[in-house]
Amino acid sequence: MSQHTDQSAPKSLRDNPDCAYHQLDVQHYYEASLEIENNRHHLDDTAEALEALEHSASVELFQKQVKLLKKRLVNDPQFFQEIFITEGTNAIAWEFQQDELGEAFTRTLWKLLRNNDDMSTLLMRFLWNIPLKFKRKFIHALDVYLSDRYPMFKGLSDGWPGSNNIPPYIRPPSERAQDFDLVNQGYIGYMGLGYSFREVELLVWLEVLRDKQCDDKPCELGHLPKMDGGENEGGCPVKIHIPEMIHLMGEGKFKQAFQLIKEANPLPNVTGRVCPQEIQCQGVCTLNQRPIEIGQLEWYLPQSEKFLNPEANTEIGDYVNPWAKADKPPIAVVGSGPAGMINAYLLSKEGYPVTVFEAFHELGGVLRYGIPEFRLPNELIDDVVMKIKQMGGKFVTNFIVGKTATLESLKRAGFWKVFVGTGAGLPRFMNVPGEHMNGILSANEFLTRVNLMKAHLEDYETPLPEVKDKQIIVIGGGNTAMDAARTAKRLGGHVTIVYRRTQDAMPVRVEELHHALEEGIELKELRAPHEFIGEDKTHFVTHTNLDVMALGEADASGRRRPVPTGDIEEMRVDLVIMALGNASNPIVKDSEPGLKTSKWGTIEIKAGSQETSIDDVYTGGDANRGGSTAIRAAGDGQAAAREIAGTVPFSVDEIRSLVASAERYTEQGQSAKTILKRIDLAEGIVEFEINAPLIARSARAGQFVRVLGWDKGELIPLTLADWDAEKGTIDLVVQSLGSSSAYINQMQEGEAIAGIAGPLGLPSQLHRYENGETVVFTAGGVGLPPVYPIMREHLRMGNHVTLISGFRTRDLMFWDRPDGRVGLLQAEYPDLLDVIYTTNDGTFGINGFVTAPLEAMLEAMKAGSGRAIGEVVTIGPPLMMRAVSDLTKPYGVKTVASLNSIMVDATGMCGACMVPVTLDGKMVRKHACIDGPELDAHLIDWDKFLPRFLQFRKQEDANKVRHGFA
Ligand code: FAD
Repeated sequence: MSQHTDQSAPKSLRDNPDCAYHQLDVQHYYEASLEIENNRHHLDDTAEALEALEHSASVELFQKQVKLLKKRLVNDPQFFQEIFITEGTNAIAWEFQQDELGEAFTRTLWKLLRNNDDMSTLLMRFLWNIPLKFKRKFIHALDVYLSDRYPMFKGLSDGWPGSNNIPPYIRPPSERAQDFDLVNQGYIGYMGLGYSFREVELLVWLEVLRDKQCDDKPCELGHLPKMDGGENEGGCPVKIHIPEMIHLMGEGKFKQAFQLIKEANPLPNVTGRVCPQEIQCQGVCTLNQRPIEIGQLEWYLPQSEKFLNPEANTEIGDYVNPWAKADKPPIAVVGSGPAGMINAYLLSKEGYPVTVFEAFHELGGVLRYGIPEFRLPNELIDDVVMKIKQMGGKFVTNFIVGKTATLESLKRAGFWKVFVGTGAGLPRFMNVPGEHMNGILSANEFLTRVNLMKAHLEDYETPLPEVKDKQIIVIGGGNTAMDAARTAKRLGGHVTIVYRRTQDAMPVRVEELHHALEEGIELKELRAPHEFIGEDKTHFVTHTNLDVMALGEADASGRRRPVPTGDIEEMRVDLVIMALGNASNPIVKDSEPGLKTSKWGTIEIKAGSQETSIDDVYTGGDANRGGSTAIRAAGDGQAAAREIAGTVPFSVDEIRSLVASAERYTEQGQSAKTILKRIDLAEGIVEFEINAPLIARSARAGQFVRVLGWDKGELIPLTLADWDAEKGTIDLVVQSLGSSSAYINQMQEGEAIAGIAGPLGLPSQLHRYENGETVVFTAGGVGLPPVYPIMREHLRMGNHVTLISGFRTRDLMFWDRPDGRVGLLQAEYPDLLDVIYTTNDGTFGINGFVTAPLEAMLEAMKAGSGRAIGEVVTIGPPLMMRAVSDLTKPYGVKTVASLNSIMVDATGMCGACMVPVTLDGKMVRKHACIDGPELDAHLIDWDKFLPRFLQFRKQEDANKVRHGFA
């Protein structure tokens, strides 16, 4: 190119036959003016010559021509651009015909590419379209001449494009294993090394340049399934037009490429990072040694937009609020994981009024509470939420479908169709001896404590098991195992992943395993826990015995089945994290008898559709597939959105009425949980009346709510003391124990509690005792409020009730006066309700514990002198419940204990509220929040269960000090 650019006059002017001037004069004039400009030598002589030439006829004519040309340039720049472009590309094409590209040419070409103007776009298009052998020449030249500034070019030409490329920027393991910042920073991460945005864009483009532009588009479409049907192998579940995207990027049209991707997938910034590309788009890439980094390209586009315009990712352009427009019927989306999000996004975009109902107080599903921020920053989920909101989509958090409302009641509230994207959030365990011990928890629980509840941060209140310097094992080989292991590593643990097969059979994304190992996490292949052993006193795990496995015959998954060899290996452990996958959460299924589910509990769909067995109810993602992937969930949400947006069978007026009703319902769900009344019952015990209309509407005796006092607080379960469906209020009694309850207890009327979800758990099973048997309630301290609505139900049914209410001392008693709740019930049911009070210090009623009068009743019953006891319900401190259970067992009296143990999510997702129960001589795991809170007290293995109440005592005490409640 240099010989062209160094010519003394523009070629277009020199060769133009229409230019009627004397070429020689003009040539001299041009050279003279250049000499003066460049201030070289013979300045005076040259100035004189220039003066003379300026008045020559030909130069005057030339000047006129130049003026005309300038005018034309202003009026018709395209004309000139084309001249220069043709010239330029011809010159470049000439260079590419040479054996090798020269240094000057390469440097100039790169400089032009860096300019980020029309010319550079044109050059990109040119280079994208030239045959591979020329592209190779270009890459070779970059390697040879530019690797001083760009070390990533060094050696790039060896094996390019098939087996060599510029990888995205990954932070060094020693640095990243200390914090929660993003590990794989993508191509944009190179900016951190000092490269400009345009340089990074060129690195991305160089990756694109490797593309073979295959006709059959395997990355998008995958390979056709075998004869037995099923899904395509590989390809893109959300049908991103990958080859077209790459083509646009190849031509330098990054904005258009982003536009294209957005049309198929509103979550590219998410799926680009977490999608298992190695089994989808990249898995079938014909550059099979080193596939194109499609995932990286996918998230580079939104990320670069965000970099250039921080608001860009949340801008959705003009829209008309679909709730105000009210020309389409409302849609309810249940669950805000990728399936629900994409569904809500697409339907909002189509102009449907959409409300997303989410069980947690935060949105995003597994993307938020499961996948850590070092893999997926939460702000990306917030961007998607913001976009949906801007299109009019609404969100109701702390709303548990199946508990707060059924699918049927959502329809009754005005929602035409419902999409259920509730995921598969019930963690699996191994059911090996010792698994109940403290220090053994599910990955869901561990990750939720850290990712959602920020338990590792000083100013947050949720307790976290001790991790720093502890020996930690993570059981499992999937993404969840890796996330848990890498999180534990970042919190200072010595982490080993224990996997029963070999590394190559691990279902984890290859990149994640690679990163985990780089970060210093150990891997023990062919090992599986056989049992856990712990300390007798603290019940904390100390060892595990591992079965040494070998690989046997292939199983249904095609992988070789691991079989125990009989050898056992002992390993010291302080913390065990179970990452064995998730089963389906039964909450929705149990509340909808018409909803067909598989034997694994997943929601079934009609063939070729996302519709369930209930009309107008659709599903997808993990709720239907069991544990799957984010991109498959997104694909299902997309497919369901297409189906949902069908023909609307309503008149204009009917639609308006549905929209108005659904909007009212949504607003009720969103309404602040404001404290309407506060009554100080006793020292440290407060009764609150709280606005919670939808919870009040569904509440039943025996149920509880999950309360988040303030945004950095802990989720705590509180049993409902009462509710008023008409007023839309619930009543809670809170005793100041931990820092969360202490915080709530300080709250005043008019203040709002950050979040309340419920009603949770199963309602009490009420039995009518026809023969006058009494139902005995033993309530310990603030066990009285949860007892109150249950005994009231029994009284309403006509059962006789004996309340034994125990307090430490008279000063802590409440509701006992004639105008108190118990007093009022006594007045209402004088013949059906007997009340016995006990105090530990004898300041009121019987001196001693609730067990004393209970024992007397049991003895009287046995002797035939007292009233028969139908059942005993015990609610209060765990030790009291155990004492009651032990007492009644020999008498064979049915006894129910209500267990609100240490919960995190209270919907079964985390498995924290595990209760070891013995059924048919075998220990079975029950969950207080799913199977309870009321469980048969005689089946509970109290020895194993009680220590779980105290496992976070140390952390809770420290919390109280930190938050000033000690
Ligand atoms: P979810 O993401 O589970 O979302 C379901 C939502 O529904 C949740 O917010 C839940 O609170 C809510 N919900 C549940 N029940 C109710 C109810 N009754 N009422 C209201 N709301 C309810 N996949 C990948 O592709 N790549 C990865 O790298 C990857 N890593 C993972 C790491 C971890 C730790 C885990 C646990 C999973 C990972 N997965 C990964 C799997 C992937 O995250 C899931 O397949 C995907 O999130 C499923 O999406 P979903 O929308 O179906 O459900």
